[in-house]
Amino acid sequence: MKSLEDYKALHQASIADPEGFWTREAQRIDWSTPPRRALENDQPPFAHWFPGGETNLCHNAVDRWAAVRPDAPALICVSTETGSERTYSFAEVKAEVSAWAAAYQALGCGQGDRVLIYMPMIAEAAFAMLAAARIGAIHTVVFGGFASGALAARIDDAKPKLIVAADAGSRMGKVIAYKPLLDQALGIADHRPDKVIMVNRGLAPFHLAHHDVDAETLIAEHRGKEIACIPLPSAHPSYILYTSGTTGKPKGVQRDTGGYAVALAASMEHIFYGQPGGVFFSTSDIGWVVGHSYIVYGPLIAGMASIVYEGTPTRPDPGILWSLVAKHRVRTMFTAPTALRLLKKEDPAYLKAHDCTSLKALFVAGEPLDEPTALWIAEALGVPILDNYWQTETGWPILTLCRNLCDAPVKPGSPGLPVFGFDVRLVDERTGQPAAQGEKGVLTLAAPLPPGALTTLWQDDARFQSAYFGDFPGQNLYSTFDWGVQDEEGYTFILGRTDDVINVAGHRLGTREIEQAITTHPAVADTAVVGVADPLKGQTPIAFVVVKGGHGAGPDLAAEIVQAVAREIGALAKPQGVYFVPALPKTRSGKVLRRAIQAVWEDRDPGDLTTIEDEGALEAIRILRQGAPSP
Ligand code: AMP
Repeated sequence: MKSLEDYKALHQASIADPEGFWTREAQRIDWSTPPRRALENDQPPFAHWFPGGETNLCHNAVDRWAAVRPDAPALICVSTETGSERTYSFAEVKAEVSAWAAAYQALGCGQGDRVLIYMPMIAEAAFAMLAAARIGAIHTVVFGGFASGALAARIDDAKPKLIVAADAGSRMGKVIAYKPLLDQALGIADHRPDKVIMVNRGLAPFHLAHHDVDAETLIAEHRGKEIACIPLPSAHPSYILYTSGTTGKPKGVQRDTGGYAVALAASMEHIFYGQPGGVFFSTSDIGWVVGHSYIVYGPLIAGMASIVYEGTPTRPDPGILWSLVAKHRVRTMFTAPTALRLLKKEDPAYLKAHDCTSLKALFVAGEPLDEPTALWIAEALGVPILDNYWQTETGWPILTLCRNLCDAPVKPGSPGLPVFGFDVRLVDERTGQPAAQGEKGVLTLAAPLPPGALTTLWQDDARFQSAYFGDFPGQNLYSTFDWGVQDEEGYTFILGRTDDVINVAGHRLGTREIEQAITTHPAVADTAVVGVADPLKGQTPIAFVVVKGGHGAGPDLAAEIVQAVAREIGALAKPQGVYFVPALPKTRSGKVLRRAIQAVWEDRDPGDLTTIEDEGALEAIRILRQGAPSP
């Protein structure tokens, strides 16, 4: 273990000499053709990691281990919703993934084609992803909680050749049929996939339409076929993952192959206690970036077994996560603060009843970890609680404490130090110049972004440049759109978003997207959505709505508006309150003052209002706040 100073020197070396640092790290994975060099950076901010190298994510995650430890567990699929559990060894995963890859090819899908995956947390979801990686198809997983509008937007952007879906998911014992949502989405979308591969779990009525193929029959036809992993250029896109931004149009984060494999392998070694034969348990979902990096690819690349969990933290009882830790002797666990806050409300006996001594650490990410929750869980588990800060875009942690490289202590409220490869700079929001020590600044990353980070936005290099690098022209600084502050030892504290993105239970939602969903209702003239503090979810969206003349405002309309959001985006984006106002507070140039609204709602100073058009509009919100229930 190294001291804080040693770690800082190592981090500095990773920035000053990326060539040397990443050439060494690249040896953690198998290459069919070794790279010419680590980095080609002649077109910033587009970095090309490991040029000349050829590799395959599926080979590194599956075949590599199937060759040496075929019977070791790879995927432990547990559903407390259906009461099922099945473990697949590396050899079994290889066989299944090979059959899926053969099926894709038989349906005319090959290198560079997109496969959209709209699935619950079942083994087939992981097979569908790995099979795409195996043949160089580009997967794009859409979170099962998204509804038809959001799904249609992603179908039209990614233009998948194939879609893989299931009849249904299940949450808290309630079956959520996916097929009707998918059919609706296909009704809205302009793009048509060639085929839809449907997994039938027997949870919801199952009808195959003309373009649908039954997965079980299809895969049975291809079982036993050996489809080799195709060596892919390091820069070949492995996947697209959509995330919210400030406009209504989601951003298609594009990841490469070689850089991603190396970054995950390095993070498993230095951050996540990776060890072949160990068990990794992340409670996230394959629809999110954590699911890509630390349910499917990262643990498998490290030769670990990964638990694929369909269920919630509290069902059948609030001890379920810990019982899985005890049963499978989990080494590394990863969850979100919201899950911990949920469990904190329950009887601590549920935790104490299970033997969690196999755990090395509990990692949490996705939203701020509040100190009382951190202290509670640290005391209850007796292992380090390691907060890690990152984004869909970066693919792996920007800030944390790399326990394999540094024994610096945890500081409550801070995810820790910049991770190797990330050139973190806190800068003045207007000039891009370094913020003074102890002063709040925008958290930026100086290009080149490290391996594993997004290489561009899907078919939109211009948006990649303008959205992330446009705030500080000429400086090649990637904006995270988060505020941060650093203490004298270099620990960074995250202070919230600089933009109109909100974070609900660790999920990023764009307020513009929710507003667009609300304005699909014919009675709505104008709306503003803001995220306000919520004791459990961190933030929750609330909507202010101006009704068109001739329409009556009231509880029925509010319910219809909430339904419109559920229909367009999904239940996770439903506003917790809908408030009718005569006008929205706007600047003279017509920009909605979302941050002022949020401040008024949270009983804070709304700040400088010199640009406001109409003070009365904010006053109307103040009055509503007085009558609204406390969060
Ligand atoms: P997503 O891309 O959906 O994972 O959202 C990323 C955003 O979540 C970041 O830009 C932060 O605003 C927030 N976030 C992620 N991890 C943390 C963390 N450990 N502490 C505070 N905020 C976080």
